[in-house]
Amino acid sequence: MGGAAPIVVQSMTNTDTADVEATARQVAELKRAGSELVRITVNTEQAARAVPGIREALERQGVSVPLVGDFHFNGHKLLQKYPECAQALDKYRINPGNVGRGANRDEKFASMIELACRHDKAVRIGVNWGSMDQELVVRMMDENARAAEPLGNDQVTRRIMVVSALDNARRAEELGLGRDRIILSCKMSGVQDLIGVYRELSVRCDYALHLGLTEAGMGSKGIVASTAALAVLLQEGIGDTIRISLTPEPGGARTQEVQVAQEILQSMGLRSFTPMVIACPGCGRTSSVFFQQLAQEIQSYLRQQMPQWRGRYPGVEDMSVAVMGCVVNGPGESKHANIGISLPGSGESPVAPVYEDGEKTVTLKGDNIASEFQQLVERYVERHYG
Ligand code: SF4
Repeated sequence: MGGAAPIVVQSMTNTDTADVEATARQVAELKRAGSELVRITVNTEQAARAVPGIREALERQGVSVPLVGDFHFNGHKLLQKYPECAQALDKYRINPGNVGRGANRDEKFASMIELACRHDKAVRIGVNWGSMDQELVVRMMDENARAAEPLGNDQVTRRIMVVSALDNARRAEELGLGRDRIILSCKMSGVQDLIGVYRELSVRCDYALHLGLTEAGMGSKGIVASTAALAVLLQEGIGDTIRISLTPEPGGARTQEVQVAQEILQSMGLRSFTPMVIACPGCGRTSSVFFQQLAQEIQSYLRQQMPQWRGRYPGVEDMSVAVMGCVVNGPGESKHANIGISLPGSGESPVAPVYEDGEKTVTLKGDNIASEFQQLVERYVERHYG
């Protein structure tokens, strides 16, 4: 992670870590969805005891994914008391605002860094504006109040977060942790705040950076806000790993955060994960919901195939599939895609021409257009990526 390496997609479980079976199951789901790093809460002795069991359960299922332990308040104690937990994790996340106060804080922080060095683990120093180091806040707010030209509250808050991350990173290096073992994050819930804080961080250091809008929220609000913030930063070359902190809807899949992260990176042309479906929005010319259903079916089909296709058909993730609603833009867009179908709009003859690599290859008609098109996509994949 970091430097010229691809931007890594990560996620976090919401199970009780002490429940080995449920946590291992969710980690495996997140990994299958494409998460390349999974964070788990390690908040209690039971959770710390469970971590090696989670690792073993994953190995039994043939699931290999780096695990990050999320520590607050008692991380030093848990890592010391449960060396098997410290060993089973690949990275420790430390929140400098939740380590302690004064000399006690320094001692606890040092203990966690020393354990990371001993076990040869990476550390994310993860500052969050919801839990900032209060001593640093008071000191910097006072200094700002006495300044000839005091900054506004927002600016001081951003500065405190950057200083907190950099001071702790420097301290970690003094304690022996390698620069290449340190990842920084400064998470905020406001889009402009997040952009501002990471711009400053990226100018002031060259540590690997973890991006994410904290407490992004639920549904389209969370997706839009996360995308708005991360797209600006990623476009400027800022960020080495991302997490989308979506609140799942009741009964919703935790894997949605992985899908959104992948879609952000793929839409921006930074990485490819799954073939892209290009579909028009539909309008008064679309005669039925058939076109919407086909677009949705094809999209789900492609995503479901990816776990098998990834190994069998290298490069398939770059493929584009067009599903268009009528003759206005249908043939044109289909010709630009690897494979595309133009469905009949209202008043058009009930046929659906299919294009492959820019050429019309077949015209589908009748009741089985959807399944026949899916077979054509499958054959295209075998021929071109097999
Ligand atoms: S391609 Fe046809 S159906 Fe789709 S939005 Fe354009 S005009 Fe409407």
